[in-house]
Amino acid sequence: MSLLTDFARAERHKQEQACRLRQLISTRRLGGAVVERHGRQLISFACNDYLGLSHHPAVIQAAQDAASRYGTGAGASRLITGEHPLYEMLENQLAALTGADSACVFASGYLTNLGVIPALTGPRDLILADRLVHACLLDGARLSGADLTRFRHNDMAHLEALLQKHRAAHRHCLILADHIYSMDGDAAPLPALLELCADYNSWLLTDHAHSLGLPEDPAAPLPSKKASEGRWLAMGTLSKAAGAAGGYVCGEKDIIAHIRRTARSLVYTTALPPPTVAAASKALDIMQAEPWRGRTAQAHAQLFAQQMDLPSPPTAIVPWMTGESEAALALSTALEKAGFFVPAIRPPTVPPGQARLRFAFSCDHDPDSITRLAEELKRLTTHHL
Ligand SMILES: *Cc1c(COP(=O)(O)O)cnc(C)c1O
Repeated sequence: MSLLTDFARAERHKQEQACRLRQLISTRRLGGAVVERHGRQLISFACNDYLGLSHHPAVIQAAQDAASRYGTGAGASRLITGEHPLYEMLENQLAALTGADSACVFASGYLTNLGVIPALTGPRDLILADRLVHACLLDGARLSGADLTRFRHNDMAHLEALLQKHRAAHRHCLILADHIYSMDGDAAPLPALLELCADYNSWLLTDHAHSLGLPEDPAAPLPSKKASEGRWLAMGTLSKAAGAAGGYVCGEKDIIAHIRRTARSLVYTTALPPPTVAAASKALDIMQAEPWRGRTAQAHAQLFAQQMDLPSPPTAIVPWMTGESEAALALSTALEKAGFFVPAIRPPTVPPGQARLRFAFSCDHDPDSITRLAEELKRLTTHHL
């Protein structure tokens, strides 16, 4: 038998057997970190809306005004009629915010990596990626046709060994890392990565999806423009702390101009809707004017980590490791009963045997509910032991 339905049912069965079944559950985000699922209101520790900007009245107003003025859709790709006036403003804001010369906005963070990596590398090139980078960096790397090798997470000695072994046989080399790792919440050693790039004539692309809008770690400041000129590109998303949608890459202006001309995921997709660009732009204004938002999100994550006896996180993500998928699912279900929504993260999003709960904090949480959450998690985990 080779009917599509049989195939789909067999695949579902396999996912179920492995505790990897993924389901779409209707969720109403009500603002203030509250979501409604299965008819119940829960405090969500699942949203990446770290600064609460997706429900900010001024951001909503900006989107509404843009819809009235420019319509709800862009009509075509940015290279045709999609280049509405709001794009230039947003790209200038992003360049100013990140201290780069220039920025280019894509329709999502995923599409940014899918477009940027093949615009920079091809079959004669080498890509070295941290083992824990986000899936879209790997998808972009695969699409480029370059030789892809992974190095152990944050292990600079392993990366250097791979450079020694493989660099010379390739034309260009691109290193891929997340600035903050999405499922672990830890940071990449950017200065060390840039040093290796300089030593081995390589380039660096870092993913800032989970650090935009959050305080910079004073112990590990971002490398200066001078230290990184010509070798480093940073990308990120407007869908998390910026509360809207879209992705961006920023760097030196000629590199960005090359990407703008050649990235297929920019050329062959419709531009972002004007209300989305307007919302992102307003959100970036608020992000800059109100740095307390990022500081509060981070303080909430640190409070939870302290209560659970976990290492203090650099940003707003705290993982709670369970190992097996079943255990992560059971804890997530039990927390939902207690009024908290915390997703179980399972393979293939994380390596086998490293299932976990992932807690994401926002400035909209309050210390009381964080304390109740920690108490509930402690109760559940001691009970299960
Ligand atoms: C969410 C995420 C992306 C993708 O961004 P979207 O705008 O949601 O497509 C890319 N990289 C990392 C690390 C992410 O967490």
